[in-house]
Amino acid sequence: MKDNYNEIIVIGAGVAGIYQIKRLIDMGVDAVVLEADKDLGGTWYRNRYPGCRFDSESYTYGYSFSRELLDEWDWKELFSSQPENLRYLNFVADKFDLRRHIRFNARVERMVWDDQNLVWNLTLSNKETYSAKFVVTGMGVLSIPSTPNYEGMDKFGGESFHTYYWPQDGISLEGKRVGIIGTGATAIQIIPAIADQVAELKVFQRRPNWSSPLNNAEISEKDMEDIRSRYDEIFELCAASPGAFVHTSDRRGFDNLSPEQRREFWDELYDTPGFALLAANFAEIYLDEDANKELSEYVASRIRDRVNDPAVAEKLIPKDHGYGMQRIPLETNYFEAYNKDHVELVDVSETPIIRLTKTGIETSECHYDLDIIVFATGFDAVTGAFDQLDIVGQNGQRLRDKWKEGPKTYLGLMTAGFPNLIMIAGPQSASGAANFPRTIETSVDWVSTLINHARNTGVNRIEPKLSAEEAWNREVISMHDKMLHRRSKSWFTGYAPNVQGESNSDHNPNVRYVAFWGGAPKFRTFLNQAEAENYPGLMMEKDRIKVEFSA
Ligand code: NAP
Repeated sequence: MKDNYNEIIVIGAGVAGIYQIKRLIDMGVDAVVLEADKDLGGTWYRNRYPGCRFDSESYTYGYSFSRELLDEWDWKELFSSQPENLRYLNFVADKFDLRRHIRFNARVERMVWDDQNLVWNLTLSNKETYSAKFVVTGMGVLSIPSTPNYEGMDKFGGESFHTYYWPQDGISLEGKRVGIIGTGATAIQIIPAIADQVAELKVFQRRPNWSSPLNNAEISEKDMEDIRSRYDEIFELCAASPGAFVHTSDRRGFDNLSPEQRREFWDELYDTPGFALLAANFAEIYLDEDANKELSEYVASRIRDRVNDPAVAEKLIPKDHGYGMQRIPLETNYFEAYNKDHVELVDVSETPIIRLTKTGIETSECHYDLDIIVFATGFDAVTGAFDQLDIVGQNGQRLRDKWKEGPKTYLGLMTAGFPNLIMIAGPQSASGAANFPRTIETSVDWVSTLINHARNTGVNRIEPKLSAEEAWNREVISMHDKMLHRRSKSWFTGYAPNVQGESNSDHNPNVRYVAFWGGAPKFRTFLNQAEAENYPGLMMEKDRIKVEFSA
């Protein structure tokens, strides 16, 4: 046996990797996690920008697998902030003594499948090598930052960074002239959080995003007691909701209410914490253009009410997509930030950024003098982490070549030609488009059962059938074709603002591929069915001899 051989290697010690290693250790599997960063936490380790917090209710974001853990951890806010979230993940790792199974500073650069010996051979950036029978990835869907390539990027004399690399020890913003490029979920959290600290804030917006209030609040000890007593009910609600939130969609029927009644209902949802306006709304808003238009007009009117300058308000209202058609950011005093004299919205769709200079940003109209430039320009989402890793499967095929025109998977968990490679929150799964840990637990549980099955039956090679992969691909596309969001330009549809790629959609030239299966409950049904029927979509082999298991 080679050095550094483990039965299973998990890549990534974020929310997915932490739970996966816990399950594997409990099953008595010889497994290790390789984590590129110097500590655990994934997205919550990396994103340290001001204002960074959950927009899922904290108590729905925590793991549900351990009653003891639920009993021991108190959430302090309805939508907990990044430092607390990182503390939580550390608490979990320490409670279950998981750190000793994690190798830090272990960035996997290349992994090659050896079909003779049925192992994956992995090489790290420090040239260390590992091998394993199975590799399970938990690399995150938003872990490869994407930055524009303006002329003069290296000329700027102040500090500049992508939000993902916000300085770990913080940075003083007091009295500084700050420019922020982008108005996605990240920027929408940062802008109000720093508006009162900085001397000047210039927001460079290309396209506005719809956004509605987070309505965060503290959780008192008494509230926490109540939450704790209702955990079963809470997780049941999440299990029944397409986005895996506590909010369930309204079944009264859009057309059964008058416009006045609908407005009254939306007023209520607007003031409800979290994704209520999206997820507790009528299902028609996702499917029916007129319903979505009426809701969008309602949200636009709320933005107009909150922004003093009508011209600025109009610029903050999206015109190219309806409410909920891209991933909605939730905000706290975002729109009010633009009422401050020292905060300026620069519309770069009208006056594009030409270059960065030694002292700031030059647009087609003027020069903005800045001390700090923040790139809140998003990610090469979903497939980015896979593209960056050199994954070589059966017959020397590279995953990034296989997925050149869009990822193809079986249940978002495996892909043909890459045996024994299992993806948690892979493309075409339900993760990412839903409350992350809820769908992560579903996937990790399924994977753990599959691995258990393989170990009990002596199976050492698992690969999806091409026919099963094709069928899943058709399923994902047909679901997507029913939804209005098929026309939007968002990372849910493979859109990556600074990444080149071929369109793979009849609906929108900016859509590179369909990134997710939408709807956590139905996703779970597919997974349960595959398990109950003894994995008909998978080829299982014992030392290259096919084995069939009947349902
Ligand atoms: P994003 O939603 O992709 O937004 C990126 C922003 O940068 C967009 O406004 C984009 O404009 C702009 N941009 C990109 N390249 C540009 C360029 N070359 N010039 C001008 N503008 C440019 O990225 P994000 O805000 O980092 O959010 C990504 C995802 O992270 C979210 O959808 C969410 O799922 C997750 N997130 C979650 C939370 C939370 O849970 N609370 C918080 C933050 C983020 P265009 O739209 O015109 O391309």
